[in-house]
Amino acid sequence: MKNTGKELEERIKELTCLYEVSSIIGNTEVSQLHESFNAIALSLKKGFQYPDQTEIAIETPICSVEAKQINDTFQLTSEIQVFNEQKGCIIAYLNGETSFLIEEKQLLDNVALKIGNLLERIEIQQNEASLKRQMERVDRLGILGEITAGIAHELNTPLANILGFAELLKDEFHEDKHILQDLDKIIENAIFSREVVKKLMFFACEMPQEMQMVNLVPSIKNSLSLLDASFKKAGVKYIVKLDDDKLILRADTIQLTQIIFNLIINAIYFSPKDGLVTIEASQTKNHIILKISDEGPGLSEEALEKVFQPFFTTKPTGDGSGLGLSVVHGIISSHKGLIAVENNKSKGATFTVTLPKS
Ligand code: ADP
Repeated sequence: MKNTGKELEERIKELTCLYEVSSIIGNTEVSQLHESFNAIALSLKKGFQYPDQTEIAIETPICSVEAKQINDTFQLTSEIQVFNEQKGCIIAYLNGETSFLIEEKQLLDNVALKIGNLLERIEIQQNEASLKRQMERVDRLGILGEITAGIAHELNTPLANILGFAELLKDEFHEDKHILQDLDKIIENAIFSREVVKKLMFFACEMPQEMQMVNLVPSIKNSLSLLDASFKKAGVKYIVKLDDDKLILRADTIQLTQIIFNLIINAIYFSPKDGLVTIEASQTKNHIILKISDEGPGLSEEALEKVFQPFFTTKPTGDGSGLGLSVVHGIISSHKGLIAVENNKSKGATFTVTLPKS
């Protein structure tokens, strides 16, 4: 009779623990995961036959609770499964004469199952949030693309007029040095604005595309010879690593050069003196891969997230418009390719472009 009473007491403790764990888990947000795990560990400890001699550890990739002091004679482990993969475990340590009860193993398994469900819920929430952010970005880029295309069209004609009339005035005032200097400034600024408009049109994918089979290698070599002076001026070196002399893909040659150009110009800009820019090109069965890395400061968290958004720039005013990489992104998307950026382990950043061969 006495034993039955004790057993009953144990079952009540276990059920209380399960109830507590369920309500802790039901109310848990990602930000409070640590507090929740601590509360679960405490509740589990109380649910065991000898709470004073029992310690609980919970190990998962995103949050862990260590056992207070491990001086155990017995150990019990339950795996935590997240989407059918083992993602950690709960370990109960007991320092006592008799081992764990079968019911205690069941309790631990039950709690491990509940923690697994919680981690699945968190993973789904995080995926949803990241998907939402991506959709918002695509939406924003789409709307901005339309607006920019409109602005670019509107500006093209007046800019052409400014340039044309300034040239005419130059003929008319060819004897007045002062006026000629002012006119040159007008022309210079109009040309700069025309370049910005061109970039805007690239960004909005408004430039006509001429797709043909091209070899990436000469495009890289041409870009490098055009940028040779920029490398020298900045005191930056470069190295080219090519998998093959022929890296053929279906693309618009001018836009391909635009990608290479923009990425290398940024790499030079952010490189320290004597820094090395590495240009690598390789191929897989269906893709051509271009990697451009530098030894600069790399990108901040914010920059990593916003780098392809139009008008995002960390360069001082006058140095950058924040359009280069959104143009690159636009071109790559229209080629059904991908671009990614990551910071290197040691220093600098690497931009990886993957383009389909056909
Ligand atoms: P811009 O060069 O006019 O600023 P981009 O779109 O080319 O516009 O680049 C946007 C921003 O991305 C830069 O201002 C900089 O913050 C970041 N960035 C681009 N390339 C690199 C690089 N190689 N290293 C570090 N930051 C970079």
